[in-house]
Amino acid sequence: MTIQEIDRARVWHPYTQMQTAPPPVPIVRAEGVYLYTEDGRRILDGISSWWVNIHGHGHPRLNEALARQARELEHVMFAGFTHRPAAELADRLVALLPRGLTRIFYSDNGSTAVEVALKMSFQYWQNVGQPQRREFIALDHAYHGDTVGAMSASAESPFTAPFQRLLFPVERAHAPYCFRCPVGCDRATCSIDCLRRLESILASRGDSIAAVLIEPMLQAAGGMIVWPVEFLTGVRQLCDRYRVLMIADEVLTGFGRTGKMFACEHGPVRPDIACLSKALTGGYLPLGVTAATEEIYASFLSNDRLKTFFHGHSFTANPLACAVALASLDLLIEDRSMDRVARLEALLRSRFTALRSRPVVADARILGGVAALELRAGQGGYLEPIGARLAAEFLSRGLLLRPLGNILYFMPPYVITDAEAHWAIDQIEEVLAGTRGD
Ligand code: PLP
Repeated sequence: MTIQEIDRARVWHPYTQMQTAPPPVPIVRAEGVYLYTEDGRRILDGISSWWVNIHGHGHPRLNEALARQARELEHVMFAGFTHRPAAELADRLVALLPRGLTRIFYSDNGSTAVEVALKMSFQYWQNVGQPQRREFIALDHAYHGDTVGAMSASAESPFTAPFQRLLFPVERAHAPYCFRCPVGCDRATCSIDCLRRLESILASRGDSIAAVLIEPMLQAAGGMIVWPVEFLTGVRQLCDRYRVLMIADEVLTGFGRTGKMFACEHGPVRPDIACLSKALTGGYLPLGVTAATEEIYASFLSNDRLKTFFHGHSFTANPLACAVALASLDLLIEDRSMDRVARLEALLRSRFTALRSRPVVADARILGGVAALELRAGQGGYLEPIGARLAAEFLSRGLLLRPLGNILYFMPPYVITDAEAHWAIDQIEEVLAGTRGD
């Protein structure tokens, strides 16, 4: 039986259960920016396989790190035991992260990194004698993952709609979506007026707030919304003023994607808690990190067992994942990844800014190695059919792009060459030339 035959009979794929959806493409091999299909086609991975890959697929250094670790220790539970890859990775991350984040709590994906951050901040306030701080503030258009806590923090969307009654309430502040300014201002003249909503929530009930959760500088799944840096610094100032914790969800933005090692560096701001995953392992294996300050960590240190953070997954700090993450951090430096992202950003700026003049393009947004076009299509949003139509057209041309409804974006691995990037953007240009908005 072919992969597709077995798959069709037995596998339940995320997001693609519509009867009209094309069958999943069987991939048998990958190298650099390319995926290779069972029937011998080559596809350029223009979205880094859901935003995880940075050094390219099948990288010899990462392969070797994984093989070497597999020969020594594939896994051991992480309660009462430890191992060199986890200890060293924690040490390396602390050196790399914004100053003050000194403790690394491991889990195993982006949603769990967020889930841990929510629980950790919630319990922190109990541990320090302020149990009334039990609410969270998150932003419009937020996406923080698919588990129940992460969905609660996420803005309402088709991902969360069926579960609304299952989710806990979260206060919602404006996002700085400049193209569709929530308070009707113009970026050229505004004073980040959209921040006022966050301020008024904090002013009226700051004492009951545990934390403000944000995706710094780039709200990805909610529409590739690029922030003015003043919003980020404003959030930090407000969190300081009202003494609430600031959680930075850097699951997507971490490890260079926005042109800085962490998006908080654009401020620069220092969050109290940061969530990492995706590119943490170079896109090889699932791993989650929730980094916290020493002060937060200290509040859990007690002989009172009820102050303990009882949260641990079977695969917490998996040694294989930690070993690949260490090799990926080496590569970020040796391969001059940040220079690569800067070069890619310049290329994206010149090509995508030019695309802004197309009638179907409403807005172009670029930050680091991410470029997005907001297309004129219906009401907009994730369910706009233009997304699936364009994805199919790009796939037939050998390019993997997966628009979020009317948001078409390009987010390749950092190792993409100029020629490969230009080829991909040529495809976008050609396809858009024949595309009318819906
Ligand atoms: N947080 C952000 C900002 C994300 O973009 C994502 C996934 O896209 C997540 C959390 C959830 O990560 P995962 O898919 O690994 O659970």
